[in-house]
Amino acid sequence: MSENNYTHMTPEQFRQAGRKVIDWIADYYERIGEFPVMSQMEAGEVRAKLPPHPPAEGESFDAVMKDVEEIVLPGISHWQSPNFYGFFPANASGPAILGDLLSSGFGVNGMLWAASPACTEVETHMMDWLVEMLDLPSQFLSTSDGGGVIHDTASSATLCALLAGRERATGGAGNIDGVKAQLTTYTSSQSHSSVEKAAKIAGLGSDNLRLINVDDTFAMSADALASAIEHDLVNGKIPAFVCATSGTTSTTGFDPVGEIGKVCRKYNIWLHVDAAMAGTAALCPEFRWVHDGLELADSYCFNPHKWMLTNFDCDAFFVRDRKALLDTLSILPEYLKNRASQSNAVIDYRDWQIPLGRRFRALKLWFVTRHYGVEGLQAHVRKGVELGQLFHSFVESDDRFELMAPAPLNLVCFRAKGSDVMNESLMNELNRSGQMYLTHTRLNGKYTIRFCIGNPLTERHHVEASWQRIVTEMEKLNHE
Ligand code: PLP
Repeated sequence: MSENNYTHMTPEQFRQAGRKVIDWIADYYERIGEFPVMSQMEAGEVRAKLPPHPPAEGESFDAVMKDVEEIVLPGISHWQSPNFYGFFPANASGPAILGDLLSSGFGVNGMLWAASPACTEVETHMMDWLVEMLDLPSQFLSTSDGGGVIHDTASSATLCALLAGRERATGGAGNIDGVKAQLTTYTSSQSHSSVEKAAKIAGLGSDNLRLINVDDTFAMSADALASAIEHDLVNGKIPAFVCATSGTTSTTGFDPVGEIGKVCRKYNIWLHVDAAMAGTAALCPEFRWVHDGLELADSYCFNPHKWMLTNFDCDAFFVRDRKALLDTLSILPEYLKNRASQSNAVIDYRDWQIPLGRRFRALKLWFVTRHYGVEGLQAHVRKGVELGQLFHSFVESDDRFELMAPAPLNLVCFRAKGSDVMNESLMNELNRSGQMYLTHTRLNGKYTIRFCIGNPLTERHHVEASWQRIVTEMEKLNHE
């Protein structure tokens, strides 16, 4: 027998260390406003502080936490800072962190219902709650022919939707080389890069991805979509998949899902709707327009891990016809067979996703929903939109700046009147100052700064102060 020269944490040691971590996180949130929002580290600086070789013997937990403070913390960009306005938000919240911790504590792998029934059943229940909370079409309820599942990301959901569309268009022959080359996919020129990635992974390739033109609100033209499909049909292609976006990444543009849906129905093409960030807005009845036309979709996803206070990772993916998804992704080896699965009375979520294994992500969603209640979640969305509109009014009323796109929710796309170089410097200087974190896009050929609000800690005074800093920095640059 080998010598027993390692020790597990005892429950008591775990309790002590765990308290320290929880305290550390609570302290972190108390001081989060003090850190530069964007990490000021240079490339390689974090690694240079790490020992070149792993420790031969175990170290104390305190030594590890000391390095978290000294090595990791300076290399963190503070996504939860009230002055983080980059990309889209990736909300964290107390209940979600604790739900995630509990999920780690159980340490279960919910690949099959039988592998941990609560992991599956809480998830199914949360997905049905989301249908009710967002007033999604009833075709996505688990009690219909469809249902919902939690994926890691919207990218995975889009890939699975594309695969199901591919199989439906080819009667299950979509994986055959000669067939794959004939398949075509459609999305707008403004859709997220994950659509092209999915087309590449699924073997359809970028060449067979048609990027449909958008109008001046950055919404896909349904007529241009229909023309592209007609053109492909004439040329012997098999149109397989359309991805519409409700809330595009660059500008929160909204594709006309109803019109696109009619085109997809006409040609029998799978329609997936990606509402990664903006879907959460539908918690509020006044923003349910974000889902107009969704009843014509075959699948839909949004990310509670963006704007719904649920720590990354948590994407809610819904399908109208779960059989189509299962026919695409289900493979049953002997070692996974079990009585419950064979009874057909249970859901095995392994068949609804690419990996086999899966974490108990539903716990954090359950904790979040129970902690805030629907009304609390609605208030969070309303605050983000209100502050977004406040920032919009600041830009609108200063004629040294211009708005670059409609701002229907919490994202404002703007630039200072001047050159691209000047706008890029403006953003880089603001980021370098550590006072806020902004990201950019390019709209109608022009460098455009994005300002997206949605963090739980962002208050009116943060937005007001950030606008003042933007104005001051712009004035400084103009005088240089
Ligand atoms: N779709 C849209 C519209 C997005 O804005 C994003 C990310 O911002 C994604 C997809 C990708 O999200 P994920 O990281 O969950 O794959």
